[in-house]
This record gives sequence, C-alpha cells and structure tokens, in this order.
Amino acid sequence: MSRPSKQTIALNTRAIRDFRRRLLAWHDANKRDLPWRRTRDPYHILVSEIMLQQTRVAAAIPYYECFLRLFPTAAALGRARETTVLRAWTGLGYYSRARNLQAAAREIARCGFPATYEDALELPGVGPYTAAAVTSIALGKPHAAVDGNVKRVLARVAADNRAGQADADALLDTERPGDFNQAMMELGALVCLPGTPKCGECPVSRHCAAHAQGSVTEFPARRVKRATEQVKIRWAFVEHNDALLLAPPKPGGLWRGFWHLPEISLERPRLVARLQHGITFRDIEIEVYTGRVRRMPVACEFVPKTRLKRIPLATPLRKFLKDLEMERQA
Ligand code: SF4
Repeated sequence: MSRPSKQTIALNTRAIRDFRRRLLAWHDANKRDLPWRRTRDPYHILVSEIMLQQTRVAAAIPYYECFLRLFPTAAALGRARETTVLRAWTGLGYYSRARNLQAAAREIARCGFPATYEDALELPGVGPYTAAAVTSIALGKPHAAVDGNVKRVLARVAADNRAGQADADALLDTERPGDFNQAMMELGALVCLPGTPKCGECPVSRHCAAHAQGSVTEFPARRVKRATEQVKIRWAFVEHNDALLLAPPKPGGLWRGFWHLPEISLERPRLVARLQHGITFRDIEIEVYTGRVRRMPVACEFVPKTRLKRIPLATPLRKFLKDLEMERQA
C-alpha cells in the first residue's frame, strides 16, 4: 500500500479559498461541452472515466456515445456477451478496462451504484482516481481526484515534484467537489500543458510557486521511460471456401479475448504482409504468410467470412483484412 503523501503546497487558508474561487469561475466560463458532462448518471460517468484512462478526449467521444447506445444501463452491459462488449471497445485498446467495466456493471446491476467513495473502490478496475472522480461528479462526495493532468498542476503550484493527493485534498472545494475536480483536470488539459504551460491565461497563476520562481519547465520531473520490447511473430493466412482459419480467443497472451491468425508453420510459405502493432510497451512485428496447411491445428477453426464482422478480431488482423479487401476490389 502506498504511504499517504505529505502536503507540499504552501498556501494559507485565505489563498486556498481564492484559488478555489478563481479556478471555479474560470471553469464555469471555459469548460468544454463534453457528452459525459451533460449527465449525473454514475454509470455513464464511470464509463467515461474508464475510457478516458488511456484515451484522448476527442477519440473517446464517439466510443462513449456508441457504447451507451448499445449498453445504456449497467444491467444492459452486465447482461451482454463479452464478445459484444469487446467489439464495442475495439480501437480503444487496453481491453482489460472493458472486461473490468463489465464486471463492475454486474456489481452495480446487482447492488446499485456504490453510495460512498470507499464502496466505489471495491468495484473491479476502479482505483482511487476513478472512485474519486465518479463519486464527486455524480454524487457530490468530497474526494479529490488526482490524474496525470492534476498531478502536473499540483507539482507546478507547489514547485515540488512530491506534490500529490494531500495537496489535492487541501485545495479541494468540498462544496463543489465534482466541479472542482473537473476544473483541475481541465486546467491541466487546456492551460497547464505538459510542454509549455499557458501561464498568461492561468486563473491561479498568482498562487503558483513554479510560475513565481520562473521554473515551470522543471515540474513535473521527467520520468524514465520503460524500454520498448520488440516482439516478432508469424501468422498463417489460410482461406478455404470463403472461410478463414483462425485461432480462437484465449484468456491470456498478446491477443487475450480476440480471434487472430494462427501461429503455425505452412508448406511453401509465401510472405504476403508485414504488420506493425504497438501494445503498451511492446512493438510487435507480424509477418503474415500464406501457404498450405501441413496438419489442421487442433485449437483452430475455419470461420465463415460472413461471421468476421460479428466476432472480436485482434486489431492488426482487422486492419490486414480491410487492406486485403481493398486490394482485391482494386
Ligand atoms: S501558472 Fe502556469 S505553471 Fe502554474 S498552474 Fe498556471 S499554467 Fe500551470
């Protein structure tokens, strides 16, 4: 368990009150009109927060709208087949989020949405940030949400790279916790940018220690990036009577939960495509070969092409089939 952080922001009560007032006034006037800001439904807000964990706002909007059209309630998502949920999530990546979200939806459908921050933390895939964001925005619970954007703002306001949860708790406006949390995130997303912050437009610049010292670029400290792992695999592309040989989804591995081409050796293989795909810290190079199958692999099956649109396919396979279709039509 991580130790609670110590407060590093050196603002007195009056300055903190002024910080809240300025930040909220700026947010009220400048906040973006985003679909998840037009609702107080905790399930809808949970969906948006889970999607936004690894996805940019602009990219998440169409997925959010489509996902809620398919699964408008926690009960609808809980009832859905996992393959249907994964298909709706295709393109967002990090599919464990979709699986956890569905598990959380089942809990919510069974017991109702958690009434407290602590209970929200019990939902699968919900950590301190998401629990604070959802319960503050949907239920008005006074918990500060600290994501990457907020952490950057805090580090700069404190001029201290250790700034974190304790500082966010101290600054939080407990009368408008949901708005305050969103205002901090919005400030990080629109003004206190990772590269060069727009301090001239910042509503709280008078309370920002890094700005006063002229040291904004020193905060937050740069993180050492995890080295990228190079992975090479060979896929076998085998068609037969309008069907495609596929390996079914497995619970683990690179293509967890998704159909993909089998990794089997072929007779007289011929290279037909080279694909690049990135998953978190892995760079995957896939060579696709066609040829004759020596022996039908036990775990694979020929899937009619008419079914391919209805089953979850690994992203590089989906792209490969799309390119192939266009090539064949040309
Ligand atoms: S003054 Fe600049 S560095 Fe400080 S919080 Fe505002 S935008 Fe960020």
